[in-house]
Amino acid sequence: SDAALRQSQKMEAIGQLTGGIAHDFNNMLTGILSALDIVRLRLDMGRVDDLERFLDTATASAQRAAALTQRLLAFSRRQSLDARPVELNTLLVSVQHLLHSTLGEAVRIHAEPSPLPLHATLDANQFESALLNLAINARDAMPDGGDLTLRASSVSVREGQYTAVPAGDYALVEVADTGAGMAPEVVERAFEPFFTTKPIGKGTGLGMSMVYGFMQQSGGHIAIQSNVGEGTTVLLFIPLSEAIVEDAPAPSQPIRRGAG
Ligand code: ADP
Repeated sequence: SDAALRQSQKMEAIGQLTGGIAHDFNNMLTGILSALDIVRLRLDMGRVDDLERFLDTATASAQRAAALTQRLLAFSRRQSLDARPVELNTLLVSVQHLLHSTLGEAVRIHAEPSPLPLHATLDANQFESALLNLAINARDAMPDGGDLTLRASSVSVREGQYTAVPAGDYALVEVADTGAGMAPEVVERAFEPFFTTKPIGKGTGLGMSMVYGFMQQSGGHIAIQSNVGEGTTVLLFIPLSEAIVEDAPAPSQPIRRGAG
């Protein structure tokens, strides 16, 4: 049955996931242990010079392990959202500076807001960090630089199809790069927690799954369009809320959505 299939797919995903964590963690522990071994050996031989180098290696490994645990915790907590009324074009324009300072000069960033305002109810901080995650992936796919375009529009979504319309029910935010692109089998697995094609220590495989989780929690959808050698566009569909009256009082309590 469908449920049984889903369950076995889940078990398989958990297996891959725990295997991946164990592997990454083991590498970090190996780094710490071998650095400490060298320190001990050198102390035994009375060579106390130049120990700092190995202690630094141990510290760096331990910090990487700590960062991994942090991300794991954040992921399992699936922080509850602090959703508030926002205008998406404003967010896109304001996030440009953050992206520019994170990505550096090699990536040219373009923002293409929609002609009409796009009012939604969204956790703006988490939306920013989702865009940051996508932008970092884009940069990684463009090692020699390229273009990153943030485009916003209004669409209508019906039966899994979307159409551009002036006053739709969803905002579409596209994050498009001119990078390496993704093979179909990578697109298929990109949202899996801990799926990464990046070298160990570089990729955690959590970025896309976190963005996926955030979109689900926000009542939205996410999709990937990609061609190898041409680039990737990540599409975020965000439900539009009622038009917001300019001078309406701000809600006294943040609107909270459950953790799914
Ligand atoms: P990570 O970036 O740590 O590998 P993600 O979950 O963010 O983890 O991404 C999973 C994989 O999806 C990446 O390893 C990469 O292969 C692929 N990917 C994601 N975004 C892009 C992109 N913009 N261009 C090319 N490949 C991408």
